[in-house]
Amino acid sequence: MATLQTLNFDNSFVRLASCLFTPVKPQALVQPFFIHANPQVAKLLELDYSAEELVRYFSGADPLPNSQPLAMTYSGHQFGMYNPQLGDGRGLLLGEVVNQQGERWDIHLKGAGKTPYSRFGDGRAVLRSSIREYLCGEAMHGLGIRSTRALCLIGSKEPVQREKIETAATIVRVADSHIRFGHFEWLFHNQEKLLPSFADYVINRHYPACRQADKPYTALLTAIVERTATMIANWQLVGFAHGVMNTDNFSITGSTFDYGPYGFLDSYQPSFICNHSDTSGRYAWNQQPSIGLWNLNALAYALSPLIAKNDIIDALQNYEKVLLAHYYQGIKAKLGLTTDHDDDNNLAFDFLDILMKNHMDYTRSFRALSYSGKEDKFCALRDDCIDRERFDNWFKQYQQRLSLETQSDEQRQQQMQAVNPKYILRNYLAQIAIDKAEQGDYSEIDILLKLLQQPYAEHPEFERYANTPPDWGQHLEISCSS
Ligand code: AMP
Ligand code: MG
Repeated sequence: MATLQTLNFDNSFVRLASCLFTPVKPQALVQPFFIHANPQVAKLLELDYSAEELVRYFSGADPLPNSQPLAMTYSGHQFGMYNPQLGDGRGLLLGEVVNQQGERWDIHLKGAGKTPYSRFGDGRAVLRSSIREYLCGEAMHGLGIRSTRALCLIGSKEPVQREKIETAATIVRVADSHIRFGHFEWLFHNQEKLLPSFADYVINRHYPACRQADKPYTALLTAIVERTATMIANWQLVGFAHGVMNTDNFSITGSTFDYGPYGFLDSYQPSFICNHSDTSGRYAWNQQPSIGLWNLNALAYALSPLIAKNDIIDALQNYEKVLLAHYYQGIKAKLGLTTDHDDDNNLAFDFLDILMKNHMDYTRSFRALSYSGKEDKFCALRDDCIDRERFDNWFKQYQQRLSLETQSDEQRQQQMQAVNPKYILRNYLAQIAIDKAEQGDYSEIDILLKLLQQPYAEHPEFERYANTPPDWGQHLEISCSS
């Protein structure tokens, strides 16, 4: 086990061309204090820590030994418009820790103060959004979806101005990569001659198998397309809406990245817009699959000096195929279907249509379906449906379809419960944790983190965390300002 003084850093990003970053020291937080640490992430880093040390090194009070903090240069498309100058305006890559298994983890401080890329921002993150990011990384990881995670959450007394005065906080984000689609876009527009060496760096670090391919850059794009398609299929399967799918918020590894005004579906409304600032619904939940492709087009355009046009077209055409295959396989698993029959997709879409027309909760309905055969838990699903006749008709077909399966009821229930979560990070749950934290009570963060790390388990003592939102929590307005 390492300590914060002996972590095994090997900082490869800082060895790249100097135009790709600016060295910046973290700006110390005023009166920092410990809020929470995540033992699972500490384990990834093989780190033995104390709360006191986390505050000392991640509040900017003392430099973290062997780190080489830097702000990255990138650009990107925001809400469809190219923004030539973005970059880390409030985040710093501290360095890369390599553990005993040879895994390389980026350590990033979000809310570390101003950088040359801050534009008009103050370089800080507020407690509210830091808690949201801290919890959601774990929620996604618990659901089996690639995501950035966080080692700890540090608070401070430092006031920051948003719509009202709030306090600054910082999370220590841990990720396989902080390279975004926007890195390639910046190079394409500003330093095209560096594109090949940067693509080689990404291949060596994240997609080593592509090195052996006939056309390594085509293989790289194809691999990123596959990862992105899989990530978005996974989002759709759990009802996750990202909220700000700008290309600077898209990781090159297909990992869910940069949590802002995200939301999970409560009742199944496909046109759900979780970001209050997204007035046109560009990033509505049901637009995510097509926006994923839009973003990949922007990435492919930036890679066009390296890849022949036909190869780009082939790589992008694979997107829909991969996404749909993953989605259909996932939705069938959610219904407990392990064999293939002609009408399976229609059966799934019919169920979704019932959920939509009857304003039924997405997560609870699939979870309840996984108890069919155990009448007490399953009955609640039928009770939730206003149009009982339609539900009963559908359920009859579903049972007929299940009779073509070979596994026992019990086996099916177990398999379904392993893919239909009981606990998701509903906005109202995050809000309760935030409200309490603003009063100095962090107990809710602790409970949620543990629950969300195992969202498929029953946790009977925490049953109430699986509830649909109370009236006040149904339409919380979450915006970009964080
Ligand atoms: P985000 O909406 O967090 O993905 O940020 C978009 C861009 O704005 C990135 O370049 C951020 O670094 C920058 N940014 C966001 N908030 C701040 C802030 N408070 N201070 C400085 N830069 C910021
Ligand atoms: Mg961002």
